[in-house]
Amino acid sequence: MKQPSKSESAMSTLPYPWHESTWQQLDRSWQAQRFPHALLLHGVPGLGKFVFAQWLAHTLLCEHRQQSLLPCGECASCKLNQAGSHPDLIVVRPEEDKTQISVDQIRTANESLTLTSTRNGYRVAIIEPAHQMTIAAANSLLKTLEEPSANTLIIMVSSQSGSLLPTLRSRCQQLGMLVPPVEETKHWIEQQFGKSVSNELLGYAGNAPLRALEIAQGSYENLRQSMILGLESITKGSTDIAQVAQAWADDHVQERLRWLEYWLSGAIRQKILRTVDSFTPVIDAETILGANLSAMFRALDKIREVTEQLRRTSLQRELVLMSLLMRIQQSMQAKA
Ligand SMILES: [Zn+2]
Repeated sequence: MKQPSKSESAMSTLPYPWHESTWQQLDRSWQAQRFPHALLLHGVPGLGKFVFAQWLAHTLLCEHRQQSLLPCGECASCKLNQAGSHPDLIVVRPEEDKTQISVDQIRTANESLTLTSTRNGYRVAIIEPAHQMTIAAANSLLKTLEEPSANTLIIMVSSQSGSLLPTLRSRCQQLGMLVPPVEETKHWIEQQFGKSVSNELLGYAGNAPLRALEIAQGSYENLRQSMILGLESITKGSTDIAQVAQAWADDHVQERLRWLEYWLSGAIRQKILRTVDSFTPVIDAETILGANLSAMFRALDKIREVTEQLRRTSLQRELVLMSLLMRIQQSMQAKA
C-alpha cells in the first residue's frame, strides 16, 4: 500500500486544512532542532488559532511522537489530552465574568512551567487571548520568557498582536496564520454547511472560514435584509432616521455596525474603481457613483468611532446611531 506522504498524514490529523502552512513552518523548526521556547500565534478571528495551539501542545506532550511534528493519538498522554486533563498542559484564559488575564493567573502558570513534567518531558502553557493580559501579567510573563526552563513552550494566541508589549513580541517566534484562498474557504464551508455561501458573506467574515460558517449558520440573511431596507430608506430620505436608529439600537447593534462598515468600504471601493463588482453595495450604482467620496470616508471613520464608543457604553445609543445615520445620509445625498 502507498505510504501517505508527510503532508497527507499531517492533513489527516490537523484540526483544519488551512492550518497546514503554519504546521509546516513549525515542523521545519522541529526537524532542524530549532524549536522555540515561546510562540506568538496570530491572525484574524475565525481561523481556529486556539484549537491549533491545543493540537500543537498535544503533539509536544505525545509519548510516541512521530519524527515529524505529529501526535500518535494513542498513548497515555494523547488520551489524557483528549480528555482535557493532561497535567503538563496549562491553559490561561480570562476567568469567568472577567475580560482580562490577571497577574496571579500568569504567576501560577510561570510556577507550573518550572516544575518537572509528569510524563514525557515537555510542559506547555497556552495564553489566550494574549492581548487581554493586564500590564502586570504581561510583565510577569516577560520575566519567564527571559529565562525559559528547558523543555517548555509558551504559546500566546492573539488576534490583536499589535497591542501586545513590543518586548513580549520580540521574545517569541511570531507565527502568522493566514486566511485561506477564497475558493478553499468556499469549498470547506460547502462541505460543512451543505450549501454554498455568497462572496458577500465571505467578505463580511473577512474570509475567515470558522467565522463565515458561524455567520452562515446564524441569521445573516435576516440581518442583511433588514440592513438593506433601512439603508435604502435612509439614502432616499424616505424614512425618519430616528425610527431606524431606534430599531437598530436594541437589535444586534455591533453586528449592524460591522455590516455598515463592510458595506460602506465596498461602496467606497466601487466609487473609486467606478465599477460594479459582484458585491453590489445594496444601494444602486448611480447613487454610489454620485455620492461624495470625502463624505463617505468621514462616514466610515464615524462608523468605526461609534463601534468603539458603543462597545464601551450603551449610553445614548439611539442618539449616537442617529448622528451616524445622518452622516451616512449626507454622504449619499451630497453630490461629488
Ligand atoms: Zn501520543
